[in-house]
Parts: sequence; C-alpha cells; structure tokens
Amino acid sequence: MPNYRKTRPQRGGQGGRGRAPFNKNSSNRNGGGQRRPNKRRGAYIHPSKFINQASTVNVVAEYQARHRFADFPFVEAIQANIRSQGYKVPSAIQDQAISHIMAGRDIIGLANTGTGKTAAFLLPIINQLYASRKPLSAIVLAPTRELAQQIDDQFRIFSSGMKLYSTLLVGGAPINKQIASLRRRPHIVIATPGRTMDLIKRKVLRLDDIDVLVLDEADRMLDMGFVGDIRTITSQTPEDRQTLFFSATITPQVEQLTKEFLRDPKTISVRTADTSESVDQNVVEADSKEEKMEKLMEMLGQDEFEKVLLFGETKHGVQRLSDRLNKQGVNSVAIHGNKSQSQRKSALKSFKDNQSRVMVATDVAARGLDIPNVSHVINFDQPATYEDYVHRIGRTGRAGATGKALTFVGKR
Ligand code: AMP
Repeated sequence: MPNYRKTRPQRGGQGGRGRAPFNKNSSNRNGGGQRRPNKRRGAYIHPSKFINQASTVNVVAEYQARHRFADFPFVEAIQANIRSQGYKVPSAIQDQAISHIMAGRDIIGLANTGTGKTAAFLLPIINQLYASRKPLSAIVLAPTRELAQQIDDQFRIFSSGMKLYSTLLVGGAPINKQIASLRRRPHIVIATPGRTMDLIKRKVLRLDDIDVLVLDEADRMLDMGFVGDIRTITSQTPEDRQTLFFSATITPQVEQLTKEFLRDPKTISVRTADTSESVDQNVVEADSKEEKMEKLMEMLGQDEFEKVLLFGETKHGVQRLSDRLNKQGVNSVAIHGNKSQSQRKSALKSFKDNQSRVMVATDVAARGLDIPNVSHVINFDQPATYEDYVHRIGRTGRAGATGKALTFVGKR
C-alpha cells in the first residue's frame, strides 16, 4: 500500500446541515448497523485461522504515480484545497481513475478503505458541480452513517470556498432537518440507502436530474441487505447518468449489479494485497467471560497496546464491555447501532484523537471507518464469519505498518 496516508484533520464545529441529534421517532432503519447482515451467525471458524505471523513489513513498493495533481484539469480552487490537505501525490486509485471520471466514463473501482478512493470520485465531481452549479446533480450512496459522514466531511474540505452544498441523508438524524436541507436544493446528496428510500417515498427527494451516481462500498451494501433499495434508487436516476461503482470485493452479486448499472465501464483495481498479511495474528485462550476479562486487562496494562479496537458481538455486550473498562480505569468508548448519530460521532472522534485508548465496536458499526494507527485489534467475541474476521483485522496494520490481532478462543 502506498505510504501516502496522513491523519485526517478534524473539522471544527458541530452544527452543519443534517447533523442534529438523534430523534427517537425518526426512521432508523438504514445505515450504521440497524440492519442485520444476512450472514450465517456462529459459523465455526477453526482457531488455527486466527494465527498467522505477519510477513515482512513494508515490502509493498511505493506506488509510482503517473500524474501529479497539477496535471488534472481541476479549477484552481480545488487545486488549492488539495494542497491545503497536504496531499503531495495522487494515490493509485486517484492516479488511475480521475482522468477517466473527468472524461465521463463509468468506473468500477476495486478499492478498499484507505486507498484514497473518496477523493478519487469527489474531486472530479466537485469540478463538475463547480462548472454546472446544478442542484441535485450527484448522489453518493454508502453503507453506513459513519462512512457517509466521512464522505461528506471530505466533500466539504475539497469544495471549501466554492459555494457548493451537500446534504447528508442518514438514519438516526431528524428527517425534518434533512427535508429542510433538501428544499435548499443542495448540489449533491451523500446518503445511506434506507434514508434515501424514505425521502423518495415522501416525495421530497427526486433523482431525475442526477448526472453522477456513486455507489461506495457496494459489496458492504449488498451484505447489509440493501440490494432492493439500491435497485429502486438507481431506477429513479436518468439512464444516461455516469455511474462510479466502488467495491473491495467482486462477488457474483456485485458483478451482476455492475452489469445492470454500468455502461462500458473502465475497471481499476488497486486492492492492496490481503491486508491480513501485514497483521500478526494470534489467539488468547480463555474459557469464561471472567477469564477473558482478566486477560484483557492484563493486555491493556501493557504500553504497547496503544490504540485498541475491541470487537464484541452484540450491541449490549459492546456497551457493557466499554462500561466495565471505564470502571476499571481504561478510557474507552463504544460504537454500535443503539447509539445516536451524535454519540457515534463523538466516540469516533475521541478514539481518533487519542482521548480514548480503546474503542469497543460491533462489526457493522466499525465497517468502512478510516481510523489511523490502530495498534491492536482484539476479538473479544469471535466474528461470525471469516470474512468479518478479515474486515476486523484490516483496521490495523495499515499504511505499511505491522498490526496485531488477537482473538479469544476457548481452551483446547
Ligand atoms: P479513503 O480511502 O478515501 O477513505 O482515504 C483514506 C485516507 O487517505 C483519508 O484520510 C484521506 O484523507 C487520505 N488521502 C487520500 N488521498 C490522499 C493523497 N493523495 N495523499 C495523502 N493522503 C490521502
């Protein structure tokens, strides 16, 4: 993986459109883990699959970009915003996708989080919006609230000073504010599928002027059972739109969707080698919850456990674990589907800013999050599937660093 990552600057201020606190009465069916993934719970994973030594660290060659940002015909305001982010060279996906996107082509981007895919699609979109200033001409669909929020944050950074407006449409935030924001005719909406459906049904969101449709982390959206919603939403957009489709994996279902939605797409694959290769993986044996807790506290007593992402199975289990850690003097936050949007946001910020050393999470809540420098992933509860396991441990060992993953298993 190219070594281009840097810590994302935090945006100041909370306010913003569509970011009000959770409203219990509002629709809460989309994004951020409210939906149960259609997975086989409890499939047995042999403990040997949780043990693996990281192969040599940092052997991934630095990607040699063929373009500089200055080579892309972005307006100067965008170039300035890129510079102010400190981005020096385009990442592989940016290097290979931007020209095609600017030429109006459909794209299949095989890229996971951390590759810079967000800027790869946002920069050309912002350039186009700046020229057309056409309201509601782009929509980005993402699987979770947090991912949608991250995309919106990046949109605001890269369109800063350009008088372009976005609306974030996610569950867990009051729908009325989102409706009011849509009435102001934003140029782009960034949304999770469930809330998008809701707003289409209420006839406050119309997609018949859409020029660009982005499906981000399409594989995750399918995993979360959004396929019907995605088909319905796409069918509301004009057929001659441009479609930018991103997915970390190509499954038969993903392939089927690309056939339905894209026309003569250009495929760009920048998937980093199996992330798990850069993660030292091992198991910790413990039989009871208490024994797990003791061993966990022992680990957290060591300095090397600097920034720990701890996975639990259920929302309640995750909350209890986090409460318990706090009681025992380990600063921790929890992130799961029962948390309001603003609570998740502040938990994530606290973990990212190193105010909390531990973040306890469910699988769905942690999906797609870009959290730099996680030293350890600990699976307090085992993941339901090996695929979930790979996603979990992919949160560490990023950007050329070795990460560590530990999984609790019963004694043999
Ligand atoms: P993404 O894969 O879009 O979630 O991006 C991962 C992280 O890489 C984000 O924190 C971006 O701000 C950062 N990033 C994206 N592109 C570049 C670049 N060309 N140079 C430096 N950092 C970048």
